Amino acid sequence: MIADNIARIKQDIKTAAKEFDRHTPIKLIAVSKRKPVATIRQALDCGQVDFGENFMQEAVEKIKDLSEDRGIFHFIGPLQSNKAKLAVTYFDLIHTVDRLKIAKTIAKHATNLGKVQKILIQVNVGLEPQKSGILPEQAVELLKAIQPLPALEICGLMTIPPYGHDPEESRPYFTALRELGMSLKQDGLLAQDKPLELSMGMSADYRVAIAEGATMIRVGTAIFGNRE
Ligand SMILES: *Cc1c(COP(=O)(O)O)cnc(C)c1O
Repeated sequence: MIADNIARIKQDIKTAAKEFDRHTPIKLIAVSKRKPVATIRQALDCGQVDFGENFMQEAVEKIKDLSEDRGIFHFIGPLQSNKAKLAVTYFDLIHTVDRLKIAKTIAKHATNLGKVQKILIQVNVGLEPQKSGILPEQAVELLKAIQPLPALEICGLMTIPPYGHDPEESRPYFTALRELGMSLKQDGLLAQDKPLELSMGMSADYRVAIAEGATMIRVGTAIFGNRE
């Protein structure tokens, strides 16, 4: 079942990339939160490389369990300062940096561990009061403040749009994230020599996200089925 799902989604990515004239790679991140390590192994055996996890304790246990050093892990949940060291130790890319304090804490641990930590800035493009992420209007200020931290590589932006019943409802938020990213890059606040990464799109709306420029889609349910 997992093999079929991954194959189908990869085919979808190819089809959408062609249809929407996308020439940069689009990475599938398999969101394995609340799924056991055996399930991650199954996906690894199907050739899946990138995995997304939301809960630090659970994620670290699974990554240690895997031990065989396959798989690349993405942290996609809210990050507390006291978990930042674990995030730097175990994760290739942290998608959810949304305040200067956490950026500085990550940078401090990265320096200590001799690592350049790749991060994305999470943006609350839907302007939802309860949601994580900076407001779009705060992006310039945050990026200017993070720029001088040498242990961080800011790869791009991430968003979770407001929940909708129709995938098309996500489209304006995906467009907004892409436009914000392009304008930040134009202002020299994101790397000029590397592609702008846009982490957007989940099981229900990844096709729309690809059409709007996603370079990473985060898909859980459509690969692994429903979570408890
Ligand atoms: C759980 C989660 C996903 C995956 O959601 P699905 O609808 O199961 O594909 C993607 N991104 C984030 C941030 C998540 O928390």
